[in-house]
Amino acid sequence: MVKKIIKVSFAIVAVIVAVMLIKALSFTSKQIKTEPAGDFSVDEKNVSQHLSDAITIPTISYENETDIKGKEFLNFHKYLERTFPRLHKTLQKEIINNYSLLYTWPGKDKNLKPFILMAHMDVVPVEEATQDQWIHKPFAGHIAEGYIWGRGALDNKSDLMGIMEAIEGLLTKGFQPQRTMYIVSGHDEERGGSQGAVKIAALLKSRGISPDYVIDEGMVITDGIMPGVSSRVGLIGIAEKGFMSVEIIAKGEGGHSSMPPRETTVGILCKAIVKLESNPLPARLDGPAKYLFDYVGREMSFINRMIFANLWLTEGLLKSQLQKVKTTNAMIRTTTAPTMLEGSNRDNVMPNVARAVVNFRLLPGDTPNNVLEHIRKTVDDPRIEVMPVAKEIQTASPVASINSKQFKVIQKSIRQVFPDVVVAPSLAVVASDSRHFAGLTNNVYRFSPMVLKAVDISRLHGINERIAVDNYIQLIKFYMHLITNSQMEK
Ligand SMILES: [Zn+2]
Repeated sequence: MVKKIIKVSFAIVAVIVAVMLIKALSFTSKQIKTEPAGDFSVDEKNVSQHLSDAITIPTISYENETDIKGKEFLNFHKYLERTFPRLHKTLQKEIINNYSLLYTWPGKDKNLKPFILMAHMDVVPVEEATQDQWIHKPFAGHIAEGYIWGRGALDNKSDLMGIMEAIEGLLTKGFQPQRTMYIVSGHDEERGGSQGAVKIAALLKSRGISPDYVIDEGMVITDGIMPGVSSRVGLIGIAEKGFMSVEIIAKGEGGHSSMPPRETTVGILCKAIVKLESNPLPARLDGPAKYLFDYVGREMSFINRMIFANLWLTEGLLKSQLQKVKTTNAMIRTTTAPTMLEGSNRDNVMPNVARAVVNFRLLPGDTPNNVLEHIRKTVDDPRIEVMPVAKEIQTASPVASINSKQFKVIQKSIRQVFPDVVVAPSLAVVASDSRHFAGLTNNVYRFSPMVLKAVDISRLHGINERIAVDNYIQLIKFYMHLITNSQMEK
């Protein structure tokens, strides 16, 4: 009997191992082989100087909308006109809501759907306290040590200037598009885009425009960040997470702190927060995260390929590993982040009302109502009120297709300029202006051809923002390829 059990168990294990091996062996690369198309040479000195000059115009989005320095934005418009004369002669320019820009490059074939390239022109302010930590002044546009330095060098003047350089370059070569193209450049992305991108999306919608695809910032080429993959990885964001803040309010007995009740409002509130933090929304390995691992898993060592090719067996194990790291955890679940706390403002007074705000970033598939239900169930305390903070509830964006020809056009353009880069779909965990275009097309992609190492991430909105000159040249070439590759018929 025992012998038989051992025999059967051995047979089962053998079958499982065989299945895993077969799956791993057929788990082959999804990368495409391609060659750079045509002569897309770029004058390094010229284009670097242009970006450097663009950085010196402080188009800052201040916290308070009314603080906007309109003059700087108008200066920036004039600067673009001077720098890209061919573009301004050929494309139609519209100024939307005083400062945002919409350019139309009419294509020859009106039957083809247009496409939209986006890049915002505003930048975040530089914190006063960090001024002296900048190696080169944030608005001086220094070119030094092989980099172009300053606020906006990454986020997002490089994309805007790069798109324009690409068009100016193509025009010089006599290129004429078949397909109509738009450039959308909002002036308040860093404040949510309500005055810029939102208005432009509404305008295009009112004109009946349904673009073939939209591409904006959001994801980049990571260098040494993706565990298990030795190559650099170009991540194309096919969706972005939603945003919801929720007030958690505890009401009860306040008063003098000399005779506290057994449970205070502050204590009740804190228990609720601890419950929320220890019971996050469930992790899910589906949608963009699943696609990501399906693409990068194929580029890993054989052992890792065994794991990623056999999610039917390994999904639980994988999820538990991904949850341990905050970056991958954010990709597989709606995250819970307590951000604000309020009690009384005297050390000897207990508040009648204690209040916290918890910020949730919603995974595609989780709705604000799901999240509210989860909070109420988890807290499970009648003394606690749960109320969404009315402004800025944003569901996650729809998920763009990875099988579309538009995704493949972006993938191909990346590989033409960066032949060694592994391209993979991904989830953008930060917001971009492109979310406002979800009503116009399903094909909204988020990708900038900037190469970032882990240490560079903090330069975004931080100190010493910079882009390598050779990376900027590649960025321009990427847009040249993207624009020409996007011309193919239907
Ligand atoms: Zn940005």
